[in-house]
Amino acid sequence: MDCIFCKIANGEISSATLYEDEDFRVILDLNPASKGHALILPKNHADNLYALPEEAASKVLVLAKNMALKMKKTLNCDGLNLVQNNGEIAGQTVFHFHMHLIPRYEGDNVKVGWKPGKLTDEVKEELLSILT
Ligand code: AMP
Ligand code: ZN
Repeated sequence: MDCIFCKIANGEISSATLYEDEDFRVILDLNPASKGHALILPKNHADNLYALPEEAASKVLVLAKNMALKMKKTLNCDGLNLVQNNGEIAGQTVFHFHMHLIPRYEGDNVKVGWKPGKLTDEVKEELLSILT
């Protein structure tokens, strides 16, 4: 399989690496939304969150938290978004699971958002009946 993030995560292609352990590599995004925008890549391939093993899924949020704390301290950012896209419609462009860490700064103009809708009683009941 020809997966660029597999090659980066496993060191076959060099990258600006912020952190590495036996399961993950954290790299700087080549097209950053903000200063410090980084990606957490598992070393074992999974296309997306659905395919990510539970052990990796639980470890990835602990790593995200530790990286976020480091960014807060060293970049002095005012906030931080965790973004994780699954499927083309959701904005996924590289089909190897990754989590974005996007430091946020006052006035940075970065857009991570949606237009808020309104939860109707009908849809709420429908969702409660199928998702619980
Ligand atoms: P997504 O749209 O969630 O799939 O995010 C893919 C991200 O990977 C984008 O933010 C790209 O800028 C980034 N990206 C793609 N190729 C590379 C690469 N070779 N090194 C670093 N970041 C990359
Ligand atoms: Zn891969």
